[in-house]
Amino acid sequence: MREFTYSRAGDLGEAVGARARLIAGGTNLLDLMKLEVETPEALLDINRLDLARIEPHEGGLRIGALVTNSDCAADARVRRDWPLLSRAILSGASPQLRNKATTGGNLCQRTRCPYFARLSARCNKREPGSGCDAIGGVNRNHAILGTSDACIATYPGDMAVALTALDATVELDGPDGARQVPVQEFHLLPGDDAATDNVMRPGEIITSVTLPAPRPGRQIYRKVRERSSYAFALVSVAAVVSVDRGLIADAQLAFGGLAHKPWRDPNVEQSLIGQPPEPATFRRAADVLLREAKGFGGNDFKIPLARRTLAAVLNEATRA
Ligand SMILES: Cc1cc2nc3c(=O)[nH]c(=O)nc-3n(C[C@H](O)[C@H](O)[C@H](O)COP(=O)(O)OP(=O)(O)OC[C@H]3O[C@@H](n4cnc5c(N)ncnc54)[C@H](O)[C@@H]3O)c2cc1C
Repeated sequence: MREFTYSRAGDLGEAVGARARLIAGGTNLLDLMKLEVETPEALLDINRLDLARIEPHEGGLRIGALVTNSDCAADARVRRDWPLLSRAILSGASPQLRNKATTGGNLCQRTRCPYFARLSARCNKREPGSGCDAIGGVNRNHAILGTSDACIATYPGDMAVALTALDATVELDGPDGARQVPVQEFHLLPGDDAATDNVMRPGEIITSVTLPAPRPGRQIYRKVRERSSYAFALVSVAAVVSVDRGLIADAQLAFGGLAHKPWRDPNVEQSLIGQPPEPATFRRAADVLLREAKGFGGNDFKIPLARRTLAAVLNEATRA
């Protein structure tokens, strides 16, 4: 691990515009610093900021950036009205990690691509312009949608997949003021610039995430993984689906494990609305989702796996 300085911010003003790297739970950043994948010269601990509250907000909820994953998943309002979020969080990491992991840090966690974490490998995300050893390498966990020649890494988080299906918004504060970004626009596809994970500008801090008022419908989070706990998603599906008089009335879907960001495709949702909840409808939705999917050898299995997982979730969500 390289040497670094450590200080604590007393209020938001000290954190906004800081040149130091922000540290919250430290569960991702410290691991990467030990591997020397991340080498910040200065850390600014934000744990003293007043950002650890969950409050009502315009019919929905505002979840402070320092609310731990455990507290968010256990909140009675979240469990009642946004159970999808609670289940997605509880499907990730371990209780000990969730006790430390924060809302802001979870959104900013970095890819679990093994080539990113190995200094001897070529990785455009870690070292722009060096190449990508995952293409042609061991790529079982890698993306099948939205990839580029520069990067096929996936975004590994669960919480953000649920937040995407729930139409949540990220609230940021920075040197140029506060702004809001829909969660589905927060993370970026790799394109030519694989090093940039999200739209945050230098000096910005996530202050909270806001959930809009709950929508009617059944909420499901299904995560397919190597083990039944303590593993990242191979494929995950977050769904809010309602049925009215025998037809699908509304569908909001997001997918994890498939792309460099939580994946949402309005065409998939449109293909479902107004249709009877039956296998042919679910097959068509999977065709729409996966029409541009591309495997890289080791991860080819994700294409049929995503198809089956989506069908299973839609079946469960629409069952009488
Ligand atoms: C063994 C293991 C298994 C895991 N399994 C899963 C899993 O299955 N699913 C899952 O979703 N996650 C999983 N995780 C990841 C875990 O959820 C993240 O490490 C955690 O959520 C990060 O939060 P943190 O507060 O610790 O972030 P930190 O490590 O403190 O920070 C992470 C990044 O976020 C930035 N940051 C932190 N707070 C802010 C803020 N408010 N504004 C701007 N930037 C900020 C930091 O600068 C840093 O770049 C796992 C982690 C481990 C170690």
